[in-house]
Amino acid sequence: MTRALLVDAGGVLFNNVTEETDFLLLLARKHGADPDELRRHLDQRDRAYEIGRRHVHEVLADCLNAAGANLVSVERDWTDALYLDSVRAYDAAFTALRLLRESGTDLVLALANNEAEHWDDLKNAHYGHLKLFDVIGSSWRLGTEKPRPEYFRRLLAACDCPPGDALFIDDNPENVDAARRYGVRALHITGPSGLPAALSLLDRDRDQGRAACE
Ligand SMILES: [Mg+2]
Repeated sequence: MTRALLVDAGGVLFNNVTEETDFLLLLARKHGADPDELRRHLDQRDRAYEIGRRHVHEVLADCLNAAGANLVSVERDWTDALYLDSVRAYDAAFTALRLLRESGTDLVLALANNEAEHWDDLKNAHYGHLKLFDVIGSSWRLGTEKPRPEYFRRLLAACDCPPGDALFIDDNPENVDAARRYGVRALHITGPSGLPAALSLLDRDRDQGRAACE
C-alpha cells in the first residue's frame, strides 16, 4: 500500500535550469567567466547551497571568480530575473498533483528535491509549488541531499512512513537507484508528461488494491 508519494521537482515539476538552459552560460558571459569552468566549479560546490549551508548567490559568486570573473557578489536582482526567465513549469504535472490533492487523497505528498532555499522560494513566489505538498523535503530543509541514504531516512521520518510504503518519483537514475537500495519503490520519469503518467498508474493500482480488499 502506498502511503507517501515523494516527488522530485527539477525534471518533474520544472525543467532542470542549470542543466537544460543557458542560465550558466549567460551568467558566465555577463561576468567574463569561462562557462565550462563555471559549470565544473558549480558541480563541485553546489552541495553547500543544496544542504542549506550557504546562500546560492554566494556560491555562484565564488564559482564565477574561480572561472575567471572578478566580483565581490552577484547582482541579486539580475541573477534572480535570469533564473526565473530560465524556469519552465510543467503545467500538466502541476495540474495532476493539484487534482490528486483536491481528490482528498490520504497519501502524504512530499516534495523530494535537491534545491537551494532561495531558488525554492523564488519559484514558489511565482508558481506556488510548495503548497501542493504536505511535507517539504527539499535538501536545504533536510540538511542533506539525494542520493545519500541519510536523505531518504530524514524524508521518510518527516512523512512518518516506512520505506516499503513510499513511492519515489525522480528524473535522475542515480537517485532512483538510491531510493530502491533504501527499500523505497521508485519510478524513473522524464519530461513534462512523466508525472501525470505516473500518477494515473498509481490511481489504477490503488483502485485495484481497493477492489481486492472489498
Ligand atoms: Mg530532478
